[in-house]
Amino acid sequence: MRQVVDKVKECGGLPFLTDTNTLYLGSRSNAVDHITTAVLHGFDYAVAGAPVIIADGLFGTNITWVTIKGKHFKRVAIAGDIAVSHSMIVMTHFKGHMVAGFGGAIKNLAMGCAPPAGKREQHEAHPFTIGERCIGCGKCVAACPKSAITIKKKRSVIDRNRCIGCFECMTVCPEHAIDINWATEIPQFVERLVEYACGAVKGKEGRVGYFSFLTRITPDCDCVPWSDAAIVPDIGILASTDPVAIDAAGFALVNDQPGFADSLLQTHRRKGQDKFSGTWENTEGYQQIHYAEELGMGSSHYNMIHI
Ligand code: SF4
Ligand code: SF4
Repeated sequence: MRQVVDKVKECGGLPFLTDTNTLYLGSRSNAVDHITTAVLHGFDYAVAGAPVIIADGLFGTNITWVTIKGKHFKRVAIAGDIAVSHSMIVMTHFKGHMVAGFGGAIKNLAMGCAPPAGKREQHEAHPFTIGERCIGCGKCVAACPKSAITIKKKRSVIDRNRCIGCFECMTVCPEHAIDINWATEIPQFVERLVEYACGAVKGKEGRVGYFSFLTRITPDCDCVPWSDAAIVPDIGILASTDPVAIDAAGFALVNDQPGFADSLLQTHRRKGQDKFSGTWENTEGYQQIHYAEELGMGSSHYNMIHI
């Protein structure tokens, strides 16, 4: 990170490190807690050489509406300080995601540049409890940012009217007792996500660079408060000016690895098999790449140069 910051300064830029407030509870749901968390993780001026600015403000209300031509959205909510910035370097940890399949540059743009209102628009899925699996442990109740879950007769019950579709309950449930309708909800979730990514870079054509770190490729998104064992060996760092190409390359490189048997990866361990759907069986990660290409965000064809 420091090397990128120094390079941006050398080129005459005024770099700052940024992120947006989260939809769920936790230490990144307001700018004060968020900056404190960043510093505790080493993203301090003394280390990184640039200040941390939370791009959607103290409580996520600094929003710029960006017009796009999507299937789901004609305008998307982008963090105000990202919208007014002249250029952007997108630093991504490439890893799995229980709903999107994988999290790469496109997902980082979509969720990372959206204030909570925009994250909410992207999620909009409605989980339900599988009664016979639920043991009434209450972990989902504690994790829900909207108090949408109650325990009745030792089973969790989700109030659809309160639910914002953040998937936190699904992530914490030890019994896999919370599910969604994968066939109808997920393709649309991925499309909404890609449309937000499209809005995040609108107006910055030719002025966005991408680095993806294919190291410690965990099954879960980095937002969960744990880190499981990696599913494949470390690969390296990718750089590109095309978010579709860098994700397509990352996806292919991960799938080309042998999977670790003692990880969450239960199937698809052979080289060439989709490691993300082997980890999260209902996901279809490549859909992100297809739809981003369809929207004109970039190309899935790339030329890999090793340095
Ligand atoms: S976390 Fe899972 S098992 Fe525990 S109460 Fe919620 S749905 Fe039931
Ligand atoms: S019920 Fe689950 S998906 Fe809905 S808001 Fe609560 S934690 Fe998020």
